[in-house]
Amino acid sequence: MAKVILHIDLDAFFASVEISKNPAFKDKPLIVGGKFKRGVVSAASYPARKYGVHSGMPIVQALKLCPHLINVDVDMETYKAYSNMFFEIIRDKCGDKLEIGSIDECYVDFTSKALSLNSVEKYLKDLQQYVTNKLGITCSIGVAPNKFLAKMASDMNKPNGVTILRKRDIKKKLWPLPIEKMYGIGRKTAPRLRELGVTTIGDLANSFDSYEVRHLLGKGFFTLIEWSNGNDKREVIDYHVDAKSIGNSRTFMRNLTDIEEVKKEFLDLAASVSNRIVMVNSLAFGLSIVIKYEDFSVVNRSQTYDRPICNKDEIYLKALKLFEDNYIPGKPVRLLGITLTDIREKNSILKQLNIFDMEINKESTNDIINKLNEVYGKDVFKKASKVGGSDD
Ligand SMILES: [Mg+2]
Repeated sequence: MAKVILHIDLDAFFASVEISKNPAFKDKPLIVGGKFKRGVVSAASYPARKYGVHSGMPIVQALKLCPHLINVDVDMETYKAYSNMFFEIIRDKCGDKLEIGSIDECYVDFTSKALSLNSVEKYLKDLQQYVTNKLGITCSIGVAPNKFLAKMASDMNKPNGVTILRKRDIKKKLWPLPIEKMYGIGRKTAPRLRELGVTTIGDLANSFDSYEVRHLLGKGFFTLIEWSNGNDKREVIDYHVDAKSIGNSRTFMRNLTDIEEVKKEFLDLAASVSNRIVMVNSLAFGLSIVIKYEDFSVVNRSQTYDRPICNKDEIYLKALKLFEDNYIPGKPVRLLGITLTDIREKNSILKQLNIFDMEINKESTNDIINKLNEVYGKDVFKKASKVGGSDD
């Protein structure tokens, strides 16, 4: 049975948040850029786009195109708060199989939910309205049998569109699109494909026999050809549900004997697992390390904590402490690893404590958050409104 996959994408996200925060900006040309005139546009509102302003453009150039452009500073904390609320809503309304793509977009495996609905389209229109009511931001939704087509579909009728892209429609709806529009084709690759005569997604779909295209796309060739033909086998992976632990390890080209080298490797490993746990908006209540020596003997050590962790430095210090307590001095180390365990979603921790309620009295929220930060460590918790990409 065909799957029903959604790709839900907030429209002009950063710019939309600024308009939601300050309704006086509504319908005005606005960019999120900042004071630094040498910087680039992070996001542009739809009225600004009418002047040819777009993300990635130097701010100076944007101001030339539209002299009365409103230019506001990036406020990542707030964008993250909106992002968290967005994912909460989608999880609540669309079921648990949700994969976060980036700060403003996610995929949902909607297959079983769709079976229970009379009209998927009606449900999604209502969902859009609900998101708009709650966040003051519109979103666009693509509905398709796989992730690639859903992603392409959500972009077809922005802003505030619901677009269903069926396999049988790809020749008509997908293939005529310019190659630059294809997900997976980078800004540098598109012009080179054009030089080879591949100007549309349809051209790519029919390039299987082209040696030049194969050479240019390298490892990605087969995947991109499959995608352009509407085929994508990737599953929607819900890291929240699936990630019981997040780990990384590294085998060294040359065994380590110097503690300074060990520290450097632990710092890198800590940074990588920290990034990943932050991405899935979670905290870990446990940590383990693995040490493999030159003679292939392995030491695993783990610890649990009352106070959850996610921060790079904290992970590093805890991992290093475990290492120092268990290391056989002078013995050459062949592999090191750090794994975060007992991972829980930040929001679910808040929920358990019954404070993730947007309507809650502001003062008491602050009190509770301050108390939580005392218990869990500084700044682990923030008010949803104080927390925080792409342009579309
Ligand atoms: Mg977007």
